[in-house]
Amino acid sequence: MDPIERLTALFEKFPGIGPRQAQRFVQFLLRSSPAGRRELVEAVQSLSGAVHQCEHCMRFHGGSGKVCSLCSNPQRDPQYLAVVSSDADLSALEKSGTYRGFYFVLGGTISLASEKTSGLRVKQLLAAIPERTASGLKEIILAFPANPEGDATTIKIREELSATNKDIRITALGRGLSTGSELEYADPETIKSALESRK
Ligand SMILES: [Zn+2]
Repeated sequence: MDPIERLTALFEKFPGIGPRQAQRFVQFLLRSSPAGRRELVEAVQSLSGAVHQCEHCMRFHGGSGKVCSLCSNPQRDPQYLAVVSSDADLSALEKSGTYRGFYFVLGGTISLASEKTSGLRVKQLLAAIPERTASGLKEIILAFPANPEGDATTIKIREELSATNKDIRITALGRGLSTGSELEYADPETIKSALESRK
């Protein structure tokens, strides 16, 4: 396969990237310096060796421990656990600067076609609650995207959690987020108001 076509095809696999954008990425790399291209190659390679999945929140992190810097930070408030769909949504919530609790990355949302939770870390989430309750957990905030899949996930996870955790408050982000908006693209003010209006 032609190297340009091969790289274009690889970029096209990225979420949200179409053929035109993929071609623009390749053109950009062709114009870049050899040092610039090498930096990209090295950064991609380093993902294999230096990145670990956190045992607590399940996000990928570049630290050396089994637990990420967020989960091992004693300044975080153990009363709150935010359940998010992806690492990107976790970052968005974190960047909003308003949330000081812990996180759990579910690994996606329910697909409306199948209504299945396969591939989502529902069991791991449920299994982690007793230990978190012992460390002071009082409220679980379901912070899924404001779209039909996100809403379906909120309903399902709320159901699962409330069956076994009677003493914990379970809330979901308020509608400060406009419908259809992805958490990861929301601005910090919007996330802040969604958090404040949770119910
Ligand atoms: Zn973590």
